[in-house]
Amino acid sequence: MIVRIGQGYDLHRLAAGRKLILAGVEVASEVGPAGHSDADVVLHAVIDALLGAAGLGDIGEHFPDTDPAYAGIDSGLLLEQALDKVWQGGYTPVNVDVTIIAEKPKLKDHKPAMRQRLAKMLNLAEDAVNIKAKTNEGVGEIGKGEAIACWAVVGLARKN
Ligand code: MG
Repeated sequence: MIVRIGQGYDLHRLAAGRKLILAGVEVASEVGPAGHSDADVVLHAVIDALLGAAGLGDIGEHFPDTDPAYAGIDSGLLLEQALDKVWQGGYTPVNVDVTIIAEKPKLKDHKPAMRQRLAKMLNLAEDAVNIKAKTNEGVGEIGKGEAIACWAVVGLARKN
């Protein structure tokens, strides 16, 4: 068995009048991430972690934000395509661990729904998906509520 690890990071500026969608789950918020797609920072970080573990580059190479095809797109569809590329390499996700950094809203109550959704998208058991949420202690752009960020680590396995 070959085991690979990948990490991903994403950050989006927060703006009024944008929906806040995290791991495919809409969270009530006065502001949401600005971006070319639906700007789901969790899925973008997970996609980069998947691509990284499989040695397939990064999200910008596969889904350029200059391509009108991806304007406003559901990032779940991008995840599906990234997962296809990972499977083509013979790899299967084993687990994913996510850390969301946002000053507000409080994400604690939304973590179970995100976990469930991400597990379904990655075809994983819920105990193989972990969602962590924290603030930036008021420091910097994230701490001032001007941005939201996410880190993700993914494990892949392939039969040798
Ligand atoms: Mg992004």
